[in-house]
Amino acid sequence: MTAVFSPVIDGVQSDWVVGKVVCVGRNYAEHAKELNNPIPSHPILFMKPASSLVSMDQPLVIPGDCGSVHHELEIALLIGETLTNADETQAEKSIAAVGLALDLTLRDVQATLKEKGHPWERAKAFDGACPVSEFMSADQFTNWSNIPLQLTRNGHVQQDGNSAEMLFPILPLLAHISQSFTLNPGDIVLTGTPAGVGPLCAGDQLTARLGKLLEVSTSVVTATH
Ligand code: ZN
Repeated sequence: MTAVFSPVIDGVQSDWVVGKVVCVGRNYAEHAKELNNPIPSHPILFMKPASSLVSMDQPLVIPGDCGSVHHELEIALLIGETLTNADETQAEKSIAAVGLALDLTLRDVQATLKEKGHPWERAKAFDGACPVSEFMSADQFTNWSNIPLQLTRNGHVQQDGNSAEMLFPILPLLAHISQSFTLNPGDIVLTGTPAGVGPLCAGDQLTARLGKLLEVSTSVVTATH
């Protein structure tokens, strides 16, 4: 694992350093329902460490001995300006670029942690748990409430959503996060997953799309110890 992760923006390797990855749980009602979770009244926030980041251009290396590893395709926001106690206008200005991420989740481990009321890091923060695509600069996005995302697995559509379906839309979500803690330039925010999450297997071929702007394909391999 490399010590730092720098995103690719508009096809160019940047020298930005990602500090933290902030994630929101259950931001699409249909996904909350498929895991039998209640629909939250406030965003559920958690983080993945920068050490979990890998490029989605590379094969995804998943743990082979930790139960099921679920894919959660999410819209990823690369933050370009410091955001503290921000309003939605400031939140919008802070988005430098947009990409795709997989919030890989050890679902069986997470179920045990949830049962015990423990934090989720063991299920969400492992090395390789946050594959990200390249990012597209924010000026290519005209409507934050209409960003389609889709994941196909072995040629079948597995997840198909749109930011329009978010319970906490992108700008209010960023403003809300910034009320709890500061977002710094280089931080990444994952905005939740639409329905259709499921287990990955070695040999799977995945293609993720962000509307017509971005398409990335990868494969899945199991870690060997
Ligand atoms: Zn997620």
